[in-house]
Amino acid sequence: MAASGYYLDVNLLNMTPDDAEHRVAAWVAEQGAPPYRVDQIVPRLWARPIGAWDDATDLPRALIAGLEQWSPILRLERQAHQTSADGTVKFLWRLPDGLSVESVWIPEGKRRTLCISSQVGCAFGCVFCATGRMGFERHLEPWEIAGQVRELALDPAFGKPTNVVFMGMGEPLHNWDGVDAALTILNDARCLGIGARHITVSTVGILPRLAQLAARREQFRLAISLHAATTERRMAIMPIEKKYPIDRLVRSLEAFARRVTFEYVLIRGANDSLADAEALARIAAPLGALVNLLPLHPGGAPGLEPTSGAQTRRFARRLRELGVKATLRRSRGLDISAACGQLRVETEASASRPRMTVTSSSS
Ligand code: SAH
Ligand code: SF4
Repeated sequence: MAASGYYLDVNLLNMTPDDAEHRVAAWVAEQGAPPYRVDQIVPRLWARPIGAWDDATDLPRALIAGLEQWSPILRLERQAHQTSADGTVKFLWRLPDGLSVESVWIPEGKRRTLCISSQVGCAFGCVFCATGRMGFERHLEPWEIAGQVRELALDPAFGKPTNVVFMGMGEPLHNWDGVDAALTILNDARCLGIGARHITVSTVGILPRLAQLAARREQFRLAISLHAATTERRMAIMPIEKKYPIDRLVRSLEAFARRVTFEYVLIRGANDSLADAEALARIAAPLGALVNLLPLHPGGAPGLEPTSGAQTRRFARRLRELGVKATLRRSRGLDISAACGQLRVETEASASRPRMTVTSSSS
């Protein structure tokens, strides 16, 4: 990933730790400062983050001023946050160019999961998804992705999450370069130090990128947004099926020695019959995949209805009878519409900011 990005000539926050260490070492030498300054500067990026170089009180003033000039610390501005009755908190971040993305904080016992975005909008147009309806605006830079975690680590009311899932706005594997670098920053002990098994990448299955993700040595967790188990059914709700159909997706998953989770949003009449459950079992059982059944979040999908509770239970029972491990996920933060892309839609509709208008008919 380029050291600069959209905003700066040099952005240390966009660099993987090896690159950042090299660049800082060279810069420190240029300044005529002693080499130990590198170990005071680099951890301030991610491991012991600060809001601005000014807060690096162990550095001399001249170095602070120099850092501010050379590679200022960019921030995501907290534009809005909403707290749900169940403790879920949804954040809307304003990026330096005025666009915005969201993250969702989900506390559950000792676990604190942060759901993060990888793009502004999304190009893949799944019919049930609010982000999909916005269309694609741009990829996030590595620092904008990992920065969603950094901002909360900086806030004593939250702190560093224990788990991170790429289930916010955007398709992470479409932004492979950005996500590849962000994964390193999230996981590396010199940066945020979140264990690979606590980081989940959720994708509709862009196969060449999936192979690149699987080729990384860290055991990042993989969630596949399947949502239908036959090409005919999936094509009706997920345009990606045309390019990377289920049979090819399954063949690539067979090739990874990695346990996967299938995400399956139940939509009335579209994918929720017992025959659908049986087709899903034929794919999931041989792979040993876990199926995560999700209620359709109504805000994301005008015209679509969630499956009833009774049918959801029948669907789950059928899967289990066929030897598939299935979990029924409750919808968190329903009262604040904490699903893919929805806070942004609401805020923008009420703020009527022209440059952030949502296109409701795209893809
Ligand atoms: N683009 C990636 C990651 C972001 S979407 C992907 O699709 O996997 C994260 C999850 O939210 C996906 O499983 C997606 O299908 C799901 N989702 C999107 N809209 C939803 C809605 N209206 N109700 C419930 N889940 C939804
Ligand atoms: Fe994009 Fe994922 Fe939404 Fe599909 S579900 S439109 S891939 S964000």
